[in-house]
Amino acid sequence: RAKEQGGGVYRFFSAEMREETLMRHTLQQDMRGAAARGEFILHYQPRVSLHSLEVVSAEALIRWRHPRLGNVPPDCFIGLAEENGCIAEIGAWVLTEAVRQVAAWRNGGRMLKISVNLSPRQLNDRGIVDTVREVLDREGLPPEALELEITESALMQDQNLAISVMRELKHLGVQLSIDDFGTGYSSLSHLRKFPLDCLKLDRSFLDEEQASDINPLILAESIIDLAHALKLSVVAEGVENAEHLDFLRRTSCDEVQGYVISRPLPAAEFEACFAGWRCIVAGACGMPAPT
Ligand code: C2E
Ligand code: MG
Ligand code: MG
Ligand code: MG
Repeated sequence: RAKEQGGGVYRFFSAEMREETLMRHTLQQDMRGAAARGEFILHYQPRVSLHSLEVVSAEALIRWRHPRLGNVPPDCFIGLAEENGCIAEIGAWVLTEAVRQVAAWRNGGRMLKISVNLSPRQLNDRGIVDTVREVLDREGLPPEALELEITESALMQDQNLAISVMRELKHLGVQLSIDDFGTGYSSLSHLRKFPLDCLKLDRSFLDEEQASDINPLILAESIIDLAHALKLSVVAEGVENAEHLDFLRRTSCDEVQGYVISRPLPAAEFEACFAGWRCIVAGACGMPAPT
């Protein structure tokens, strides 16, 4: 019987799965030292305040230019980097590069903030506090200009460790946000345990295709109100069209991020687009374009 089962397992290990396993293995091998070889770059996506219509912040998003495979998206390698431990090296590179870039923008007069994604393993390692402190010191960035985005799954692993690391990060003065809120299982009341400043509402709330009796926009609106009651500011993610933008402006949502304003861009392109973005938001909200 065991043999039969074994055969079954073998049979179901299809060509496709074999290929996937090989690919995982390849990526995990190749990511070692990739940061030092200069294979990663950051793209920046603007965050616009619905109060001032200004670009107030940028989210740094990693891109891997693999020498043979071409562009590998973060969803395909961040998880693998968590598994083999490379996330420490990659995460430190992201933090350094993002902080260096925003410090340069601020020296040039653009008083932006920067958001960096932390993976679960990074948050569940006390070393992150020293890494963040050192990077801020080296680049001379005021800590309040750095926001660290944390997903619900990172908070669920070892809650006491997460809370204590987050308190230390807050003590440094950095901002903390919960990313992709609404995709996991935690409720807002549960999140009160963690020292958070900001809630990033997952883009699924703006997805009208989603099968549900309740209009997801109504849900979005009530989460925004609840978040405010808990003293969290709210950023809507994945805002793709003018209708959503207009809807969000009529709620009390604080900031928006999404393709309607801009895709994530390389630093040079990001800089070149500043003036245009304010006009896009104003236009989509039926307001006169700022001068
Ligand atoms: P995230 O942090 O939630 O980032 C937002 C993702 O949504 C980005 O995908 C962005 O390109 C995409 N996006 C932005 N606006 C829109 C929109 O209007 N519509 C749609 N459909 N998508 C939009 P990206 O860059 O592929 O990153 C995917 C995820 O990979 C990120 O989700 C984040 O969890 C992770 N990631 C990216 N960079 C890093 C990093 O440096 N470190 C870590 N640990 N994770 C990262
Ligand atoms: Mg994020
Ligand atoms: Mg997100
Ligand atoms: Mg996401």
